[in-house]
Amino acid sequence: MNTLKRTLLASALALLSLPVMADSAHPKIGFSIDDLRLERWSRDRDYFVAAAEKLDAKVFVQSADANEQKQISQIENLISRGVDVIVIVPFNATVLTNAVAEAKKAGIKVVSYDRLILNADIDAYISFDNEKVGEMQANGVLKAAPKGNYFLLGGAPTDNNAKILREGQMKALQPAIDRGDIKIVGQQWVKEWNPTEALSIVENALTRNSNKIDGIVASNDATAGGAIQALAAQKLAGKVPISGQDADLAAVKRVIDGTQTMTVYKPLKLIATEAAKLSVQLARNQKPDFSSQYDNGSKKVDTILLTPTALTKDNIDLLEKDGFYTKTQIDGQ
Ligand code: BGC
Repeated sequence: MNTLKRTLLASALALLSLPVMADSAHPKIGFSIDDLRLERWSRDRDYFVAAAEKLDAKVFVQSADANEQKQISQIENLISRGVDVIVIVPFNATVLTNAVAEAKKAGIKVVSYDRLILNADIDAYISFDNEKVGEMQANGVLKAAPKGNYFLLGGAPTDNNAKILREGQMKALQPAIDRGDIKIVGQQWVKEWNPTEALSIVENALTRNSNKIDGIVASNDATAGGAIQALAAQKLAGKVPISGQDADLAAVKRVIDGTQTMTVYKPLKLIATEAAKLSVQLARNQKPDFSSQYDNGSKKVDTILLTPTALTKDNIDLLEKDGFYTKTQIDGQ
């Protein structure tokens, strides 16, 4: 090919790729969130949108309101809008195989946010180390109640995190079980992480065990809140150690008051900012800095796992130092 032809070809290619370059300079990101009605996820959204806009991306947010069919249609809608990346907090980890396949067919990158989508061809997974979170929860309760009867209050059975948390919890509890120090007297998953469901589960557990429960390993703050109401009805709030996670404002107040033993702080600004960065990199065909891989049943997914922090009364002021809450928020009624 002579020089002239080569130059012409190069300009033609440059022209052809113009729209693509414009897109990747201003990527469009769809963010499909299980349920924005919950405190934690609306914070994730706010931080994510802010971080993505700083990187010149535009974000379209959808809330599935804990409805798997709604989430599937919303993902289909994002595909037809022609976004470059779809970031998903799945309601149900196991039902998105086809929706993800459709997105991939349309050339869209898919990121699993906080919760892993199983059996699907996703491009990336970003979360906190959930096994560590589970270990922290169990260790927090074990420290306060080294012996006795334990109840395990699991997360939503549709959420892969619930299972990883349980693995972490059992890793910490097993030696104490083997020594005969603690006995698991019951365990149950809480549908949709629902506090009211948690309340009735713990009410029943207390009745079945004539109130002889010495520790509750609860998998998040929302369900711990329900459990603590059940304990309070039996005048046991503050007497039975119980864990949580998320550093929800209500839970932080309970930790300070002594009705909840611990929570786990996961800096949402960090995960949201890292996820926005990773999504924009994928849209621009750049390689993000992954730290590990996680098998989701169909492939080894490139993964970023961030570090959680256990919080008790003794270090809860970290939340203020980190700007997660103001002093007024923590002290307010
Ligand atoms: C998240 C928790 C959250 C729970 C309920 C889990 O997948 O990791 O932070 O409390 O879902 O929304």
